[in-house]
Parts: sequence; C-alpha cells; structure tokens
Amino acid sequence: MNDLLRFLLYRIERVVFTNILVQKFGGTSVSTNERRNMAVSKVVNAIEEGFMPVVVVSAIGRSGDPYATDTLINFAKSINKDIPRRELDILMSCGEVISSVIFANTLIGKGYKAKVFTGGQAGIITDDNFGSADIIRVEPKYILDSINQNIIPVIAGFQGMTIDGDITTLGRGGSDTTAALLGEALKAYAVEIYTDVDGIMTADPRIVTNAHILKKISYNEVFQMAEQGAKVIHPRAVEIAMRGNVPLIIKNTMTDSPGTIITQYNNAYSNIYETDNLVTGIANMNNRVQVIMEVDSDDKDIFEKIAESKISIDLINIFPDKKIFTISESDLQKLEELLKSNIIKYNIRKNCSKVSIIGNKIRGVPGVMSRIIKALSKNGIEIYQTADSHNTISCLVSQDKADKAIKILHDEFKLENYN
Ligand code: ADP
Ligand code: MG
Repeated sequence: MNDLLRFLLYRIERVVFTNILVQKFGGTSVSTNERRNMAVSKVVNAIEEGFMPVVVVSAIGRSGDPYATDTLINFAKSINKDIPRRELDILMSCGEVISSVIFANTLIGKGYKAKVFTGGQAGIITDDNFGSADIIRVEPKYILDSINQNIIPVIAGFQGMTIDGDITTLGRGGSDTTAALLGEALKAYAVEIYTDVDGIMTADPRIVTNAHILKKISYNEVFQMAEQGAKVIHPRAVEIAMRGNVPLIIKNTMTDSPGTIITQYNNAYSNIYETDNLVTGIANMNNRVQVIMEVDSDDKDIFEKIAESKISIDLINIFPDKKIFTISESDLQKLEELLKSNIIKYNIRKNCSKVSIIGNKIRGVPGVMSRIIKALSKNGIEIYQTADSHNTISCLVSQDKADKAIKILHDEFKLENYN
C-alpha cells in the first residue's frame, strides 16, 4: 500500500472513529459502594487500553431506595399528587444528578480527574414535552472541553434542557438514550451499556434460566426485542446508535464477560455476519389489554381519534363487524372515555401479555406461526390474537401464562443451543 493511500485511510478512520468510549452504568450498577467500585474499575480499564471514557449514570438503586427516582416522585405526590409536569421533571432529574456526583467523587477519591455535567450542561437540547422530551440536538461543547483537558466527564443520564433553560426528562430508558446520543455526537468508538446481566440473552434470564447470551446481534433485531418488551436496552437508544453507526456493547458491571456487540450485519468493521438462526430471541410485554370494538367499516375515524389521544395500539385485526387491538393498561381509562363519548360498543380482556419471537429470517420461512400455535396449544395455552411483521411474530396470551409460553417457545426453537 503506498503512503498516500495509507494516509488517506488513516484520515478516513479518524473521521469515523475517535478514542472516546461512552460507558453507561445502570441503576443496579451504581447502587452500592462495592458496585460503584467495580464500575470505576471498568472506567480505569478503558483508560489503560488507551480510551477516553465518557461516563453516563442512572439514578442510584430502584424504587424504595432513598435516592431512586420513584422514591422522589412518591415523596412529592404524597404532598400533592397533581405536581406540575415541569416541576416534576426538575425533581425527577435529581436522582441522576446525585448519582453522577457520587460516581465522579468515587473516581476523584481514587486519584482521577473527573467533572460532573447535568444533561443540559452536556448539551442535550430537547423540546418541552416534560416527562418524555424529544431531542432537538446535541451540542457537547463542555464535554469536549473536558475530554481535551483529560478530565473524565460524568454525565447525569435521562435528562436534557429546553432552549429556554427548563430541565426535562427523556422518559423510560432515558439514560440509555443519553449514552447513545453522546456516542453519536462525539463519534465514539463504541457505547458500552453496563447492567446486571452478561449481555443480550435469547430471553429474559429471570424467566428462562437457560437463556443463552448472544455474542453478536444486529441493531434491527435488538431494536425489535426492545420494542417488544426486553427491557435490557431502550429501543430509542438502539435507533440513535444505528443512525450514528456507533457499536453498542452490553456488559455486566460485576463480571468480565465480553458481553453482546450490537452493530450492523455484514459490516466490514464489525466482522458480524448474519447467522442461520431462525429465531434470535423472545420478549414479552405485560399489562396489555385486548379491546374488541363492535363497529362497521363506516366508523373509520375512531382510529384517528384514538391516535389523536396519543393512545398507541397494536396487534390490530380488522373484521367487517369488529375491530380488535391491544393497548397498554395505563391507557385504558383514556380509551374507555373516548369510546363511551363516541357511543361505541366494546369489550375488553385485561391482564394479557404479548409474547413475541424475533428473528431476521422469520418472514421467509413458512410454518413458523403454525409451530408456535401448535407448541402453545399442546401445552394448554390459549392464544387470543396473533400478528406477524417483517421479523417478529407476536401472540397475545393470559399474563399468568406468559412465563410458561416463553419457556415453551424457547424450547421449541432450541434457543439454549445458540452460540
Ligand atoms: P439497568 O438498570 O442496568 O438499566 P435494566 O433493568 O433496565 O437494567 O435491564 C437489565 C434487565 O433486563 C436484566 O436484569 C434482565 O432481567 C432484563 N432483560 C429482559 N430481557 C432480557 C434479555 N433478552 N437479555 C438480557 N436481559 C434481559
Ligand atoms: Mg435500563
């Protein structure tokens, strides 16, 4: 290779990648001194390997713990449950702020230079949809200044700021989103998501004890798994990482396991090639409600009204005399009010779970749906509804049978044998 070509390749690579490594630590990973020390050791390892870490943290612990976000919300609501959304967001942003200071102070205590940034200071600019704000742009100027001074930036996840300076929060999985956004904006080498499992598994290991760790998975498949309820990473974060072409790596804070690499398939850099596996994983979403509306085809605009009320529906089946779909239990009250005010007859079935199998090859292979139906019926699990899309097949079952259904499908598609 001549020198000019080598120089050009070098330039191109530098444009694409930096040595910045975004490392996000979830709630359990920062919940105790012992765990924070393990998390800090991951940051130190990154430095020793020549990376410049950019740390993103979630709030400390889970509901009930003193500084967890739910605890703060319950405190405020115990005084007045109608706290305004803007004020609630200021409160909700505190959990991550506390966590970032504690984390940075752990680093500083070990002799490293670190500096804390709120979401707004990190340049995450959002709209004013408090509680679930949308990103307008990311301007990580102060983060870059910190990196250039070799000071580890520690960023409070899950939050941003409006153009007018109001603090906002990013909704469920918001810290994953913060990490992916910074990964994209900083052209990071990768975004590592540290959590309490060894990586993305073929199913939630709390449900399927012999679930298998997936060493590699494509953005598309993991996005589908996340969309269908696998809570290990938030779908919005996957979308952002994919857009920025930044690899995501899911790892366990408490072990040295290599984790799961998420990139594009058939990408020369990632060395990830599509496998012949039919099914990649199984996910489920609880607290679904099946709605059966008795309407004829003239009543088309009821779906428009449902959409206008921001109620998201799925598993939609249309028949001449009825329309069947599912919603989240949290939207039920809103939907019932809407249907009643439009004088629409309906029935509901509560406590359902949507169980989905995900795999890039599902569409092209005949007989997958019938295998699912056979396996579940043989084991006495009634299926209320099914739906298939490009790489997902979903079945609605009773929530108290969901775990059993997942185990049966995990066996049926022999997912424990993956590598
Ligand atoms: P964090 O607080 O670190 O963000 P989460 O609770 O959001 O952690 O995500 C980790 C959890 O996701 C695991 O404890 C696991 O029970 C659950 N999970 C659900 N589906 C999967 C899956 N397919 N692979 C791995 N973990 C999963
Ligand atoms: Mg999470």
